[in-house]
Amino acid sequence: MLHSCNNLQLQTKMGIENGSTLKKKWGFRLNRETNMGADITIRGVRYMLMSKLNKSDTRPVLPLAHGDPSAFACFRTTQVAEDALVDSIRSGNFNGYGPGVGILPARRAVAEYLSQDLPTKLSEDDVFLTVGCAHAIQTILTVLANPNANILLPKPGFPYYEAVAKSCHLEVRHFDLLPEKDWEVDLDAVEALADENTVAMVIINPGNPCGNIFTHQHLEKVAKTAKKLGILVISDEVYDHLAFGKNPFVPMGTFGSITPVITLGSISKRWIVPGWRLGWLAINDPNGILKEHGIIDCIAGHISLSCDPPTFIQGAIPDILGKTKEDFFLKIISIIKDNANSCYEGLADVPGVVCPSKPEGSMFVMAKLDLSVFEDIKDDLDFCLKLAKEESVIILPGITVGLKNWLRITFAIEPSALEDGIKRLKAFCERHSIKA
Ligand SMILES: *Cc1c(COP(=O)(O)O)cnc(C)c1O
Repeated sequence: MLHSCNNLQLQTKMGIENGSTLKKKWGFRLNRETNMGADITIRGVRYMLMSKLNKSDTRPVLPLAHGDPSAFACFRTTQVAEDALVDSIRSGNFNGYGPGVGILPARRAVAEYLSQDLPTKLSEDDVFLTVGCAHAIQTILTVLANPNANILLPKPGFPYYEAVAKSCHLEVRHFDLLPEKDWEVDLDAVEALADENTVAMVIINPGNPCGNIFTHQHLEKVAKTAKKLGILVISDEVYDHLAFGKNPFVPMGTFGSITPVITLGSISKRWIVPGWRLGWLAINDPNGILKEHGIIDCIAGHISLSCDPPTFIQGAIPDILGKTKEDFFLKIISIIKDNANSCYEGLADVPGVVCPSKPEGSMFVMAKLDLSVFEDIKDDLDFCLKLAKEESVIILPGITVGLKNWLRITFAIEPSALEDGIKRLKAFCERHSIKA
């Protein structure tokens, strides 16, 4: 992105300085990769669904495609976080530029936060602060995108990875997550896909879009497979600790001594402040393999080139991470868990929609469409467009996360809205079912 902007400025400037004639064509060239990523983003499809809404429907629009519960009163962040931000601003200590990699107390606080659950403690040098988890994704993919390199991504997954990989010319290969095995990674597929140009594999745990939590045992297998292939594991843990089923959340960094692990995270989901834009990239590599290969220097270099999170948010991080009370997390998890259960139970009653497993983490569940049940539904996108138009319910078609004829449903919304949404979904499916 940086490159294309510089080119644009440079070429426009040259055009002027050369005293361009009428014949001279404009010198702008688009970097199409950065633009084409846009049509597969969740945001893009959500806008398309919103545009189909029937304006004469007086009922509220129910946003079951949304990954941002901050709009709902019951999901307001803790006052500890709000106070930390106010104190940070009022202190007057955080008005200047910070170092590109993040200010020291904030890096240290993230290192301590992550270390609570790790066998090998992280130091502040292992942590880089980013503008949300999205920037951490951009950073690591860009750093790894040498010519011919490829990366292994989960399917279904989080399409931002595909868009970023495309913009930095990193080849993408997909491995399946297996619905019949609680969405575990198909490790045989990972082995079959990898070659000498494979640099990394990505996992997302707790899972978006599947709502699953990987077991300790499975994560260890992932690490061993990666080691065998000589690749690193990028673990997207932006939903860290949002686990409410049989498996506890285990950070992938636990296995950093088997293969290097880069953990990506942010305060966006656990603290429900995605607009604050504070994330991190953490190195779990007690054997120093990434340092030896110059990757750490490259990350530091890249991150210093791109933008950094506002200093006053960094200034609030030690208090946000260190002082938030367990009650806040328990309250949020309890709402999300109750919602997940009522969503799963509600869906069991909806004709043509099948949930392979009960969600146990994050804020989402995947449900499969049985198109043979319906009279006039072509595919998942058709389903979601008609649902938006007829019922003012927004649900994400599976195709946007890599699984055609599935649905991704968010249950992190106001409980009454969720209940209403499932009711309207049921009415819609019954109306479109083939009449016996
Ligand atoms: C929301 C999300 C992100 C982006 O997080 P931000 O901190 O808002 O940038 C990254 N990965 C996954 C899987 C997400 O759901």
